[in-house]
Amino acid sequence: MASALLRERQALGSGTSSRSSKLIHGGLRYLEGAHLGLVRESLREREILLRIAPTLVQRVPFFIPVYTSTRRPPWMIRAGLSLYALLSGLSRDAHFESLPHSRWENLDGLDTRDLRAVFRYEDAQTDDVLLTRAVMRSAQALDAELRCPANFLSAIRDESGFQIHYLGDDGEQACHARALVNAAGPWVNTVLDRITPRPPILAVDLVQGAHILIEGETRHGVYYVEAPSDGRAVFVMPWKGHTLVGTTETPYDGDPGAVRARPEEIAYLLETLRRYFPRHLGRLMDSFAGLRVLPHGNGTVFHRSRETVLHPDDPDHVRLVTVYGGKLTGYRATAARVMRLLKKSLPARAPRTDTSEIVLTP
Ligand SMILES: Cc1cc2nc3c(=O)[nH]c(=O)nc-3n(C[C@H](O)[C@H](O)[C@H](O)COP(=O)(O)OP(=O)(O)OC[C@H]3O[C@@H](n4cnc5c(N)ncnc54)[C@H](O)[C@@H]3O)c2cc1C
Repeated sequence: MASALLRERQALGSGTSSRSSKLIHGGLRYLEGAHLGLVRESLREREILLRIAPTLVQRVPFFIPVYTSTRRPPWMIRAGLSLYALLSGLSRDAHFESLPHSRWENLDGLDTRDLRAVFRYEDAQTDDVLLTRAVMRSAQALDAELRCPANFLSAIRDESGFQIHYLGDDGEQACHARALVNAAGPWVNTVLDRITPRPPILAVDLVQGAHILIEGETRHGVYYVEAPSDGRAVFVMPWKGHTLVGTTETPYDGDPGAVRARPEEIAYLLETLRRYFPRHLGRLMDSFAGLRVLPHGNGTVFHRSRETVLHPDDPDHVRLVTVYGGKLTGYRATAARVMRLLKKSLPARAPRTDTSEIVLTP
């Protein structure tokens, strides 16, 4: 019998993991909030993924143009990139440079009026759905069992774990598990509501992030620009022969399954693209939105931590761990932390493999 069972209601990557910015990165902008632990961990994971998933995760040049009107001056960006390089252990791709004027014209039609500097560094890009599926396949190769579609209906705690009910193609089914990991993305608290006795719940804010896909490619790399209206960092990225622009940060209160890019978000992203790439006049091909799960709090969403929060049911005897928020980039590190929390509740076993060595293929 499989020792790990995954129950997915719709399809792998049907939630947030198909609506991300598709970056495997440390998150340069998280340095502004001094989230050094998150950046360091993500940069470490980026290096591992570049090694174990070379066909799924690729290095990409990133460009940061600095104009006379840019809110973050060149010294600040230089300081941020230096810290970013330091946190990545000064690895090969930690190098950054300020591009000479002679190379500005080769940047996909980037507006060079009032341009003071262009910084270039490297991060990585992936296909989030393919990466998610590849991770699942590698788990299945180690005997994990996937049921999909399988809608989690309820779990009742008993002395040795949980009695679980789910709805699959064959109707309602049951199974028993010693431990339960709730990784339901923006639906995490809905899942907790279905567990008896009801576990402690962390109040969260759902914040939607939209992307637009514009016909025509920016082929030289990812551009990290400031939205003209509020100075937020926005990415302009090559994506499957076209250009992906994102994201926004809009509070969301509703059914997570119904999240869509709003007209004002599309206008905001189009305005940003046209400000920096005035000749990029391709038509709008698509738009999508995903939900960030952030611990409830005050203050601007932009500066709130994007660290994954792991919420155990009972600190002395953990049987249930709920995963709130986090990054696709850090999925391996998150899984390792979950397993450390559950260690005492599971039978002692030598690890069967090291996930930093398993090659992932599409
Ligand atoms: C706009 C945006 C941009 C982002 N960009 C990046 C980025 O560039 N790089 C990065 O590293 N991270 C990024 N992230 C973060 C990243 O996308 C998420 O951390 C990650 O996708 C979360 O994965 P997850 O599996 O926890 O959640 P999800 O992908 O949402 O998966 C949850 C799954 O649970 C299933 N589910 C829900 N309820 C039930 C039920 N009752 N029974 C069975 N299954 C159920 C759903 O069908 C869904 O498939 C971004 C996030 C957003 C919102």
